[in-house]
Amino acid sequence: MSSEQPFQLFNTLSGNKERLEAIDPKHLKIYACGPTVYNYAHIGNARMAVVFDTLVRTLRVIYPKVTYVSNITDIDDKIIEAAKEQNVEITSITEKYTKIYNDDMLKLNVLAPDIQPKATEYIPEMIELIVELIEKDFAYEKEGHVLFHVPTYQNYGKLSKRNRDEQIAGSRVEVAPFKKDPADFVLWKPSTNEQPGWESPWGIGRPGWHTECSAMSKKTLGLPFDIHGGGRDLIFPHHENEIAQSTCANDGKVFANYWLHNGFLSIGDEKMSKSLGNMQLVRDLLQDYSGEVIRMALLSAQYRQPIEWSQNTLKSAKKMLDRIYGSIRGIELSQKTDDTANIAQSVLEALCDDLNTPKAIAEIFELVKKLNKEKDLNQKKLITQQIYASGRLLGFLQSDPESWFSDLTGRDVSEDEIKKLIEMRNHARSIKDFKEADSIRKKLEDMDI
Ligand code: AMP
Ligand code: ZN
Repeated sequence: MSSEQPFQLFNTLSGNKERLEAIDPKHLKIYACGPTVYNYAHIGNARMAVVFDTLVRTLRVIYPKVTYVSNITDIDDKIIEAAKEQNVEITSITEKYTKIYNDDMLKLNVLAPDIQPKATEYIPEMIELIVELIEKDFAYEKEGHVLFHVPTYQNYGKLSKRNRDEQIAGSRVEVAPFKKDPADFVLWKPSTNEQPGWESPWGIGRPGWHTECSAMSKKTLGLPFDIHGGGRDLIFPHHENEIAQSTCANDGKVFANYWLHNGFLSIGDEKMSKSLGNMQLVRDLLQDYSGEVIRMALLSAQYRQPIEWSQNTLKSAKKMLDRIYGSIRGIELSQKTDDTANIAQSVLEALCDDLNTPKAIAEIFELVKKLNKEKDLNQKKLITQQIYASGRLLGFLQSDPESWFSDLTGRDVSEDEIKKLIEMRNHARSIKDFKEADSIRKKLEDMDI
């Protein structure tokens, strides 16, 4: 596949679609903010993981080497609260939900990031960063807290395009009488005996949320790196604060060149949240739908668009995959072929246009149409290879068609009932009762079988 293929992406920082120019064209580096682990992953978390996985898969076709880092936030006040409520150790919560997150994402065919740093393993790096910021006069200590002094960084607000009033409103959660400026944010805070804490020059304490990604991205990727991202809820304050910390500690040098944010997924027109009781957990959805169907539902919208999640999103995703698998069913491919060489250019081009997954999926359907019309067996095989390779680039078509259609996840009928209907249909055909055979076929089709 062509390494000349340009990749365009919408950069939140500039507000424009730009051509991706890698710092080192031989090695592209990406960091995306992963989950805070104190609960089962919901479908919004999965959207972020699936979007970045698809981005990385695509960039791996173009660049000889891509390093993808996505972290686990295993120190956070919500985790501390959950451990207290359940009367268990913090690590038993974080280890349990990290494993669950990784298991669930694997079922959605999300490849493990090359590096998955855990915040608690990078405390010395965080302390080092904070010390540097204090020494360079970007941060100050007060009552065991260390705060970043926002007015020292001129470009603060550039990523989120927030003016000063909006910045202050956004940081109001962290009110403290000792803040020099109302927009200042916490880099380090003291811990009580019940709270997890680490020794530091400012006493026993723990990092503020934003500190971790600045420290972990620098340690794992080096600065600057190419793409930084996450869900759009992270633009402010998380990413704005990361930029301020990392740029100031590194004497004004660029932190990351491109900022990519996936749109939010909501349930109906409501934000998905624990308090509204409308969380859709990946684990629950996997009871009724295969991981590929959930992935298709997530990728059928372009990553920047919001998604209103519903049963229909999943049902139509299931139908789409049934159509693709149905078209390649029964076409035997003689030998294992190189996927990369068979990716359809039209599909790659769609993905390279700011990860336009709906267009890429539509291009796969063009291939399906072509295949259905084709009579020549060799041509059919070639198109089938293209469908496989292009589908796999998006993380689909991991099953063979026979297993796909015999997987009964989420179907309302039992395997025995289906077998019985198939036998009845075969019998009807054998005695040439085509009317009966057709009516059973229709029934099976209505059941999506
Ligand atoms: P959290 O565990 O809330 O820190 O989220 C982990 C990742 O999932 C972050 O990149 C979030 O931006 C992203 N995320 C969380 N909720 C949603 C949602 N409803 N829709 C899309 N992305 C989300
Ligand atoms: Zn982060």
